[in-house]
Amino acid sequence: MAARRNTPQKEIIRHTLRRMCCHPTAVAVFEEVRRDHPTISRSTVYRVLGQLTEEGEILRLHLSGEGERYDGNTHRHNHVRCTRCGAVADIPAVEMDEPTETAGYLLTGCAVEYAGVCPRCRAALDC
Ligand SMILES: [Zn+2]
Ligand SMILES: [Zn+2]
Repeated sequence: MAARRNTPQKEIIRHTLRRMCCHPTAVAVFEEVRRDHPTISRSTVYRVLGQLTEEGEILRLHLSGEGERYDGNTHRHNHVRCTRCGAVADIPAVEMDEPTETAGYLLTGCAVEYAGVCPRCRAALDC
């Protein structure tokens, strides 16, 4: 039986990302992992994040105005990004119709990113 090999490092990184709900960058994941596991190297964390992304265990996000971020929530959902502080939150996906014209492309996915003002910034702005 071909048991899937899960190295302990992989488990550590996957669990850390699932626990972080802020859509962290690779650097932020590395810093969080290192707090509990000081011997883990940056290149290991980056490599494992890549592996987990390929295996569909986590999502790699390309949000506007940002580098790559990672998401431990693999259920279908959309994102809203605060235009003031850059915070990103999950919001439920709404059913969308496929476009009737695809410019000859085979569609393989759809990422929706809303722009908004997060609760913290709203409180600061009083809006
Ligand atoms: Zn904000
Ligand atoms: Zn998300």
